[in-house]
Amino acid sequence: MNRTRTFPRQQLRELEAELLSERRRLERFMEAEPEAAASERTESESIDAMVASGVSDVVQTRTHARYDAIVNALRRLATGEYGTCLGCERPIPYGRLIVMPEALHCVACGPRA
Ligand SMILES: [Zn+2]
Repeated sequence: MNRTRTFPRQQLRELEAELLSERRRLERFMEAEPEAAASERTESESIDAMVASGVSDVVQTRTHARYDAIVNALRRLATGEYGTCLGCERPIPYGRLIVMPEALHCVACGPRA
């Protein structure tokens, strides 16, 4: 069984463009996310600020995780492994990839994003 996924050239281009623009968006987001916001916090500020900061950390972590996934997907795209489910090794439907281009699994294998 040939496990190398082949896409029509047009789909491949769209997915690559999607990955590249998403990577750019995340890069901008990470640059914009002010490290300063946390250090400007004063002791007099309410618990809300701490909660907000915690939320920001979660967002940061998720952003980095997604960024890594995008970079990984681009690498897989280059090596021809892209679009194959890591769980069942079947092709991931194009319809799923275009909404979640960093997906490593088909819907059945998850995990949910
Ligand atoms: Zn699968």
